[in-house]
Amino acid sequence: MTRIVAFTGAGISAESGIPTFRGKGGLWEKFKPEELATPEAFMRNPELVWRWYDERRQMIKKAKPNEGHLILAKIEEEADYFVLITQNVDGLHFEAGNRNVLELHGNIWRVRCLSCGQRYYLYETPLKEIPPRCQFCGGLLRPDVVWFGEMLDPDILDRAFRESELADVFIVVGTSAVVYPAAYLPVVAKEHGAFLIEVNPEETPISEIADVVIREKAGTGMKRVYEILRERGDI
Ligand code: NAD
Ligand code: ZN
Repeated sequence: MTRIVAFTGAGISAESGIPTFRGKGGLWEKFKPEELATPEAFMRNPELVWRWYDERRQMIKKAKPNEGHLILAKIEEEADYFVLITQNVDGLHFEAGNRNVLELHGNIWRVRCLSCGQRYYLYETPLKEIPPRCQFCGGLLRPDVVWFGEMLDPDILDRAFRESELADVFIVVGTSAVVYPAAYLPVVAKEHGAFLIEVNPEETPISEIADVVIREKAGTGMKRVYEILRERGDI
């Protein structure tokens, strides 16, 4: 049985029209994400942070999965074992058809109440009320995503590390691989013997340890990955 693990970042959604943080044409020129996507920024000005999220949610609502997402869904269908670990919060992997997905950084459609702790999906966008209020207790809601300086969910992170250790093939797509601890996953996979493939138009710290580097955008790059998996007999 071949265990295939894919690890994606913002770059896989770029061709769906969702800008990355660090690449060219990054999100919100006026503000750095580090100044908005933090607990401190939220406590200082929940309305500003929610306006930013409301805009991102509207943009994501219009976006469709691209070729890169669709090939990952096809790989899940054809593989003996496949898991997708994503740093993205846009939910496009689910929309493309992937089911075994670990969302390291949460999901932009989910909210969490700061008073009663309830988590639920809130798809309304544009939001009628900003900041939105909890449907159970009226408390202040926040996006259920992991912000800069926050811990990742330890259960999800553990599973991601375990999957990476066990991977036979590890595919990294569209991540700058500078956000830790997620950026360790490809390194751990490689150290445990995985065949490491990177798809990214630009060089990253992963490039030098990868077995195959595909300097392409996710759409074309994933087509090549699919062929490689076929040639190797992994799918
Ligand atoms: P990043 O912005 O740090 O890096 C994006 C990477 O994608 C770069 O290495 C860039 O070269 C590459 N890239 C650009 N266009 C590409 C394309 N068409 N195909 C393939 N690769 C392409 O993103 P990151 O590493 O994911 O880290 C940023 C954090 O911000 C993430 O943790 C994520 O939670 C969040 N984020 C999420 C989204 C989303 O959900 N779509 C969008 C922006 C940021
Ligand atoms: Zn509540």
